[in-house]
Amino acid sequence: MKIPFVDLKLQYQNYKSEIDKAIADVITDTAFVGGSGNKYVVNFESQFANYLGVKHVISVANGTDSLEILLEAYDIGTGDEVIVPALSWISSSESIGRCGAKPVFIDVSDDSLLIDISLIEKAITSTTKAIMPVHLYGNAVNMEEVMRIANKYNLKVIEDCAQSHGARFKDKLTGTYGHAASFSFYPGKNLGAYGDAGAIATNDDIIAAKCRMIANHGQKKKHDHIMEGRNSRMDGIHASILSVKLNYLDSWNLARNRVADYYANKLDTTKVMLPVKSNNVYHAFHLYVIRTDKRDLLKEYLSSHGIESAIHYPTALPFLAAYKHLQYNPEHFPIAFRETNRILSLPMYPELSHTQLEYITNIINNF
Ligand SMILES: *Cc1c(COP(=O)(O)O)cnc(C)c1O
Repeated sequence: MKIPFVDLKLQYQNYKSEIDKAIADVITDTAFVGGSGNKYVVNFESQFANYLGVKHVISVANGTDSLEILLEAYDIGTGDEVIVPALSWISSSESIGRCGAKPVFIDVSDDSLLIDISLIEKAITSTTKAIMPVHLYGNAVNMEEVMRIANKYNLKVIEDCAQSHGARFKDKLTGTYGHAASFSFYPGKNLGAYGDAGAIATNDDIIAAKCRMIANHGQKKKHDHIMEGRNSRMDGIHASILSVKLNYLDSWNLARNRVADYYANKLDTTKVMLPVKSNNVYHAFHLYVIRTDKRDLLKEYLSSHGIESAIHYPTALPFLAAYKHLQYNPEHFPIAFRETNRILSLPMYPELSHTQLEYITNIINNF
């Protein structure tokens, strides 16, 4: 049996008529580009703001731009530091560096692989401006603790929700605790467009207006450029597709949780370590990440049985060539260093069938 890591084709087939109509509408209206009252983009923004329960959603071109634009809107730049976990996709730290600020990496905690909150206070200096928690794999960071520390030191909190659409800490969605949040709609994310797209969410009127301006060439209104901005707009086609798909996000996340429950019930825990389910968290299971000392062998073995798996991420951020100049060694981030050799992401998508799951778990248990 061949099992892909994600199956976007199957999702498209299941919603084909709705998606095709959404795309055709945009083409009929030639409403291609966001930024000047495009009704598909405006509609998705208000729909997503409503879903989150926030005042403003500003659509942008991708989830890396949304982080960068937010940092710029908060006037974070040269000489500033931003706290970020050692384990994430590079966008989290890249956006900080691109603004001229310094990413200050924090090791992850062994159980959740999320930022180790107990290490944050020690890393705060007089130049620290913000904390960027990342809800990695769709698991929610304890945002009450992060906000307590941020408020104590008067720091901004920008949540990286690229992997956590619909995930909750306690009764609140990720992306609604911090001063602002960044979302990615990269096709493979829990809520994905048919190309690159992203969004900013915030309750702050001033930051929202600033982000909107930065993302659209610094224009307050057409041809009224009050600053230099950039071109980072969401295309009409993506907005229209996302408006359809947002209606299904919660049911897809439930299906992802059912897949996770199946894995957790069936996998032999003497062979692999399961992802830790934290109290107070509704996990969005963007990724299902198991751990084993024989990771590379298991990955090979799965592949030889037709099962695709992936590694998120093979190298922790501080050890990437891009950060060589910071001269970190494994002792600085021992958990991230060790666990990046043990993590393996199993196939995870809402449409995984019982037969497929039975096959995957049997193969792993016979490893
Ligand atoms: C996907 C992702 C991003 C960036 O999103 P893009 O839309 O691909 O630019 C940022 N942070 C994390 C943690 C991600 O997984």
